Amino acid sequence: MQDEIVILGGGVAGCAAAIALARNGRTVRLIEREPTPRHKVCGEFLSGEALEDLDALEIDVVALGAVPIANVRLAAARRAAEAPLPFPAKSLTRKTLDTALLAEAKAAGVRVECGRSVESLTRTPAGNWQARLDNGVVREASTAFLATGKHDMRSFPRPDDPQRWVAFKMYYRLSPNQAADLDNASELMLYPGGYGGIQPVEGGIANLCWVVQQKYLARAGNRWDKFLLQMQKDCPHLAMRLEGAEPLLAKPITVARIPYGFVRSTTEDGLYCIGDQAAVIPSFTGDGISVALHTARCAVAAFLADEPAPLFQARLRTSLLPQMRLAEFAADGINNTLGRAVLPFCLRVWPGVMRVTARLTRVAAAQAPAASQAVCV
Ligand SMILES: Cc1cc2nc3c(=O)[nH]c(=O)nc-3n(C[C@H](O)[C@H](O)[C@H](O)COP(=O)(O)OP(=O)(O)OC[C@H]3O[C@@H](n4cnc5c(N)ncnc54)[C@H](O)[C@@H]3O)c2cc1C
Repeated sequence: MQDEIVILGGGVAGCAAAIALARNGRTVRLIEREPTPRHKVCGEFLSGEALEDLDALEIDVVALGAVPIANVRLAAARRAAEAPLPFPAKSLTRKTLDTALLAEAKAAGVRVECGRSVESLTRTPAGNWQARLDNGVVREASTAFLATGKHDMRSFPRPDDPQRWVAFKMYYRLSPNQAADLDNASELMLYPGGYGGIQPVEGGIANLCWVVQQKYLARAGNRWDKFLLQMQKDCPHLAMRLEGAEPLLAKPITVARIPYGFVRSTTEDGLYCIGDQAAVIPSFTGDGISVALHTARCAVAAFLADEPAPLFQARLRTSLLPQMRLAEFAADGINNTLGRAVLPFCLRVWPGVMRVTARLTRVAAAQAPAASQAVCV
């Protein structure tokens, strides 16, 4: 049976696009390689824009247990600075969020096919898209949405990541004192070679997510446990947080080679690239989910308005580039020694800097169709 639209990947972007398209009466098939949602490397911070988009999709994050995040703290060496977030924010584990999104997609009438990996995406001479699954089945549709997140399809690669970033995520049950001290804050910690974040998530636990350039990990013998000890030496604030903490996973989950700063410039007719396949914003902004939802919403609006995919992709790039470049500039600052040394001091003197940076590195609302518009164009 042929579908009108096939969506590759059932993460945030793929599900958001699938829900919006199905609610607009389109026949959609979504293919997700995992049989059920699992933990993903992600800080699990939901910015104000992400919350608005999820609300428009009728995902009730509060009912799912999302934790309100009111403050952001920045810690480098022995200094820490705090500022209130300039927008409402929450945190929610990806397993919970992705489960809810997939359920909403099914409820909207999307043909959800989980546990099947797409091995190739090609075009037929007639211009249709064919997704070949790992069991040999071929799904054909006139339009495809590429939403495979960090995983590239062979024919549509993203550039290599010269810094060779490696990212980790671990859950902890913090000691009662440290959990109370962390409170409803998202803490960003800086150390040589990268940065990490810790924040509470539902279930009374904390998410510690960190990124490091491969050459720094190599200095720790490519051992995550050794690097984690080094991080605590370089950033005593983290050592304090982890004192008496119980790790909740046997080892962190990890992902490598993240092309931060990538913004896709071209695509082919009938192929809309969304989420991390459209743009990859540096993780410290806590804005990747928001960008994923935003790109899904814009792509759906473009498809429904019959805007050709190449035009859409070029327009999306133009609208995302300023935020992306600013986020990269800020990332360079926190990744160099001088930046790490002066930043917390500056923030103490001028806490507004953090609020301004947070605001500027977000997707500008004016450049996107309203969240509600995407679902009912
Ligand atoms: C270290 C780190 C910390 C981060 N922290 C935050 C944060 O705190 N807040 C935030 O907003 N963002 C954060 N992000 C970014 C955020 O996780 C991503 O931007 C977001 O998940 C992108 O959504 P997506 O839908 O494009 O990809 P995903 O959510 O990764 O979904 C892609 C889906 O495609 C599936 N898939 C892959 N290949 C195939 C295939 N061949 N066939 C079928 N299915 C396939 C995968 O299984 C997956 O479910 C962080 C990222 C990193 C690396």
